[in-house]
Amino acid sequence: PLRGTPTVARSWEEDLERILWTEDEIAARVSEIAAEISEDIKGCGAEVAVVGVATGAFVFLADLVRRMGLPVAVDLIRVESYGSRTESNGAPAIVSDVRVDVEGKHVILVEDIVDTGNTLSFLISHMKSKGARAVSVCTFLDKPGRRKVQFELVGDGKFYRGFVCPDCFVVGYGMDFSERCRYLPFVAVLKPEKYT
Ligand code: 5GP
Ligand code: MG
Ligand code: MG
Repeated sequence: PLRGTPTVARSWEEDLERILWTEDEIAARVSEIAAEISEDIKGCGAEVAVVGVATGAFVFLADLVRRMGLPVAVDLIRVESYGSRTESNGAPAIVSDVRVDVEGKHVILVEDIVDTGNTLSFLISHMKSKGARAVSVCTFLDKPGRRKVQFELVGDGKFYRGFVCPDCFVVGYGMDFSERCRYLPFVAVLKPEKYT
């Protein structure tokens, strides 16, 4: 097994400081975004590929595509950005690329959270180089105050976000701390003493 792979030895919920968004609040907001995207996409005249950034986006991706109610292609891409445990640096690399052909399609990149913007600006360029006709970004959470790179969308792509996130490290709803807490159906702040 991977080094540090979690076991069921104990619950990690005692590592949490407070809940930011409950399961119900998340469900309501995801429905709103899904409706907004569907409305924008209906008239775009291109095929749509919804591409989640693994692993963190998997829960949001699953909820989003089921609520969009449109015949979209769904795929995942895996990138790795080397850096500290709670912050990416400027050099992401693709570990596993999409299998869907995105050429001529409207790609919607789905992220769990945008922080510095490094990962997304890299992925937007990547989709552009693969011939995407438009690239939108849909992130569940956004930390706009921490942006280091401003990304440019492609074609008539748009930016969608679920919630603006305070400047603290959050887990749950797909997001991890060293592979823990992804399964939690809500979003919580990790106790700072856990990572400082
Ligand atoms: P960026 O490249 O924008 O700096 O970082 C993006 C990635 O860093 C996110 O997709 C996410 O995987 C991770 N990240 C940034 N902030 C947080 C956070 O508060 N909690 C968790 N779990 N991951 C985060
Ligand atoms: Mg992510
Ligand atoms: Mg992570």
